[in-house]
Amino acid sequence: MRLLLVEDEPDLAKAICTSLQEHGYVVDWAENGQIAWDYLEIVSNHYIVGIIDWMLPKRSGLELCKLMRQKLNPLPIIMLTARNSMADRVTGLDAGADDYLVKPFGMEELLARIRALQRRTPTFQPPRLQVGSLLLDYGAFTVQNIHDLNAVPIVLTAKEFQLLEYFMQHPHQVLSQDQIRLHLWDLADECISNVVAAQIRLLRRKLAECNYSKGIDTIRGLGYRFNA
Ligand code: CA
Repeated sequence: MRLLLVEDEPDLAKAICTSLQEHGYVVDWAENGQIAWDYLEIVSNHYIVGIIDWMLPKRSGLELCKLMRQKLNPLPIIMLTARNSMADRVTGLDAGADDYLVKPFGMEELLARIRALQRRTPTFQPPRLQVGSLLLDYGAFTVQNIHDLNAVPIVLTAKEFQLLEYFMQHPHQVLSQDQIRLHLWDLADECISNVVAAQIRLLRRKLAECNYSKGIDTIRGLGYRFNA
């Protein structure tokens, strides 16, 4: 689950990123409105929520909201701001923001508001995803093979979980290394070329622990395919 954070105060941005990552989100951080706009053009449909500061260099948060809505981009937006007058809130919501958080705020509140927006949008992830005999549990961060009577749920790391979720959302499809990398890692991350292969190895080990023999095929020169 990928979020876009647009915030020009580096310390605040880092604190928000760290907290969101601890809760299993992938975060792309843009430090000004122009970078945010570039990210939205590249990976717009990968984001589940945008967290956008009002006062930003290059393009303001308000301008970003208006532009996105003009282009019919439906991404749910939480505006961050130090402004708290009724007129400002109305301006922000009229520009296309879905929610409003006044600085300073607690991370628990931001997390709760993200969850609330996820619930309202049709792409909200169900608490469990089942494909074939494989069951992914969003609450417990586990995977289980329900055809294996002796199987216990296997706990996944955040990256293993995101990778398996991505595969299970695209069963029998070949996903390229680039698609996987773009989905799983921050755009700003230094991504070494074999990072996807390494993550696939770890996930295969977990699937073997579930006695899920079909697993993930390597399609030479193209990518990887998950078999349901
Ligand atoms: Ca700011």
